[in-house]
Amino acid sequence: MGNRKHIQEQIHKFTEGLAPAKLLAVTKYSKNEDLIHAYEAGQRDFGESRVQELAAKAEELQEDYQGIQWHFIGHLQSNKMNRLLKTPGLSFIHSIDSMKLLETLYKKQEQFEGSKLNFFLEVKTTDEEEKGGIPDYAQLCDCVKFIQDQGKSVLNFYGLMTMGPIRTDNFEDGARSSFKKLRETRDQIQADFGLSELRLSMGMSSDYQFALDEGTDWVRIGSAIFKE
Ligand SMILES: *Cc1c(COP(=O)(O)O)cnc(C)c1O
Repeated sequence: MGNRKHIQEQIHKFTEGLAPAKLLAVTKYSKNEDLIHAYEAGQRDFGESRVQELAAKAEELQEDYQGIQWHFIGHLQSNKMNRLLKTPGLSFIHSIDSMKLLETLYKKQEQFEGSKLNFFLEVKTTDEEEKGGIPDYAQLCDCVKFIQDQGKSVLNFYGLMTMGPIRTDNFEDGARSSFKKLRETRDQIQADFGLSELRLSMGMSSDYQFALDEGTDWVRIGSAIFKE
């Protein structure tokens, strides 16, 4: 119970401080008890990076906590797609990071039971080897072409997501250049494909200010809310 006050203060602080950008509260380090504290402060968007964990939390909460929108933000293996799509309250996937995964998403879309599933394409904007994401503009274009060829669907191409660098000589410069790159890539995709209103998902506890400066639409924050 000791966390309750801290969590609720952080939810209020971020919700106000980030607007018009939106707060995705990342619960991967937290139990549902803490998530409920955030829910009671008005938070409805929650993010998880592992399918099992997301499914377990969502199923436990679905009856008593209406209106939760779940966001999947982790690396997704194709063989977990069915399980993910069947999760109650799933509303966003931030981490479609390859053409193969994109094809799997479309192939399995009937598994999804909701009315609309928004997804982001994850773009690699740093040269850190272990980072996921679509590595170059040509491959990103292939993905967008694929989406445009699919026609109407419960799936909605919502925007682009990235992760800032972790190991860098200058943390601030590294983050800023990664987020600038994502924004420029978004602008270019919109121009090249005649799209409008693609959103950005970037920024975490340690670098969200720089993401706000680049005009992000969603900020994904875990430890600054849930770890005291
Ligand atoms: C864990 C995680 C976050 C949140 O990280 P914090 O540093 O705890 O705010 C954001 N995005 C992704 C993809 C994550 O895996």
